[in-house]
Amino acid sequence: MAQQREYLVVGAGLSGAVLGRELAEAGHRVRIVEARNHIAGNCHTERDAETGVLVHVYGPHIFHTNDTEVWEYVSRFEQFRPYKNRVKAQTGGRVFSLPMNLLTINQFFGKTLRPDDARAFIETQADLSITDPQSFEDQALRFVGPALYEAFFKGYTQKQWGCHPRELPASILKRLPVRFNYNDDYFAHRFQGIPEAGYTAMVARMLDHPGITVALNTPYDPAMADTVDHVFWSGPLDGWFGYDIGRLGYRTLDFERFTAPGDWQGCAVMNYCDADVPWTRITEHKHFAPWETHEGSVLYREFSRAAEPGDTPFYPIRMVEEKALLGQYTARARAERGVTFMGRLGTYRYLDMDVTIREALDAARGVLTCLSQDTKI
Ligand code: UDP
Repeated sequence: MAQQREYLVVGAGLSGAVLGRELAEAGHRVRIVEARNHIAGNCHTERDAETGVLVHVYGPHIFHTNDTEVWEYVSRFEQFRPYKNRVKAQTGGRVFSLPMNLLTINQFFGKTLRPDDARAFIETQADLSITDPQSFEDQALRFVGPALYEAFFKGYTQKQWGCHPRELPASILKRLPVRFNYNDDYFAHRFQGIPEAGYTAMVARMLDHPGITVALNTPYDPAMADTVDHVFWSGPLDGWFGYDIGRLGYRTLDFERFTAPGDWQGCAVMNYCDADVPWTRITEHKHFAPWETHEGSVLYREFSRAAEPGDTPFYPIRMVEEKALLGQYTARARAERGVTFMGRLGTYRYLDMDVTIREALDAARGVLTCLSQDTKI
């Protein structure tokens, strides 16, 4: 092995845990500092004290990937139970199935179309004059037309992102499929599941290595960098620079917890697409663990708003103004020595969990290759 190094990883979320684990397994010493009072970042899960239900504290997290190595990697640390995300959505006082599929289309328009007819019908709805959709709104109008856009996307997106869908990139909507069959699986990925004991248990196992120490409630202090060979930063990109040229925009979420006996809404996630309902969705956590039995139920109503300093950042906004500022921070990050930026916050990207893990594995490999060749990272 190359000479043993000492690394500082800032953040004990998925990026930090996977990277830390890989470096520790290669024989290096890894010190992880985490500002919050728990590990696992925004995929943190914990048992609700009143009902005993395992709660996705920062909102629903369903693991899905086509990356076999990533799936095998996470499965090493925690048993995954098969789980398909089947979302329901309310609009105009009715309940539909999401992602948009043949049932949604037939029920919404009061039809009994077969796949080919539905495809042709939706073409008649779509605005074919939009040839190169750039915005969320154009993408929706081009592919599903105004009626479905208004019912399912416009209000929800305005609440979720705090701006008009024409100010958002088309890429956000591209996350959602439109299906001309009755497949209502939210994700098209081969591997899908939820860790049986929760994400925090999985991350705890990743961190359980003699080469790793974790300090919670410990914000990063620049003096910490003096004693290590390299820093891996999974905190906010602009936070590393003390926000000195401005803050990148994030959406944060507020959750309003309530309990109910039995089964309150009959599914894990119910979206509320109407603009006049202030929340975006309600999550009934017990449905994420159908292998458990609980008498009571705990639910979170989810509200989205612009993050203020001190709030937990969730979604990078990446609108035009953010892009300009992001460009400046990214250029500085590239020029910075002794630190590597990673993860959703560190790279200011809307990353799914599997991509975060893939990137952390690749980053660790990059570091180890550099060390074996004795080049600087
Ligand atoms: N979206 C919507 N209506 C819905 C669900 C999603 O308009 O009922 C839009 C919304 O803008 C959201 C985007 O589609 O941000 C991507 O949805 P996804 O489910 O991937 O969002 P996430 O679960 O990451 O918040």
